Amino acid sequence: MTATVTLLGPPGSGKGTQATRLRDRLGFEVLSTGDLLRAARDAGSDLGRSAAEFMDRGELVPDDLIVATVEDAIRRRGDRPIVLDGFPRTVSQARALDRDLASRRLDSAILIDVPDDAVVQRILNRHQGRSDDTEETARERLRVYHRDTEPLVAYYDERGLLRRIDGTRDADAVEDDVRATLG
Ligand code: ADP
Repeated sequence: MTATVTLLGPPGSGKGTQATRLRDRLGFEVLSTGDLLRAARDAGSDLGRSAAEFMDRGELVPDDLIVATVEDAIRRRGDRPIVLDGFPRTVSQARALDRDLASRRLDSAILIDVPDDAVVQRILNRHQGRSDDTEETARERLRVYHRDTEPLVAYYDERGLLRRIDGTRDADAVEDDVRATLG
């Protein structure tokens, strides 16, 4: 069984849904940086206060803050299998993970591929009351995805770790493919 995997894909591609399924059906621990940051913001911690302004603008939280937070969160999960949702999101974060972050090595990066038009529509339809789910921030997050996160597709492809999945189908079909990549 693969022990550490990351889900890559634009905002609204269904990473959170698939991470939850890996937890419920295969016993993975989920480490979602978005959930972690929202919880920190709601709790009013230093991390939450620093992150809030970036999140509400649809921008990325600075790498050093995220890397330290993720390292700590990974350590808390001991040696259980982990699915990362929302990390790494920049090449610099991927390099930090490569440098043996919390003694973990990434086994695979699963890209959930969905075209831009489809994801903006999904984000606007999901109505979760998130303060960053307006059309303007959704488009900004997508722009940031293409600029800062999409380079990770080539990064992981070069390292033989990339698995690409068609994310336009329903969640069950996507889940079948995700599980197939895990062997
Ligand atoms: P989505 O995948 O829908 O964009 P997330 O819940 O994953 O939403 O992330 C929400 C926000 O949290 C991002 O727009 C960003 O501001 C911040 N964030 C989450 N993960 C990271 C990360 N790895 N690096 C920097 N910022 C992050």
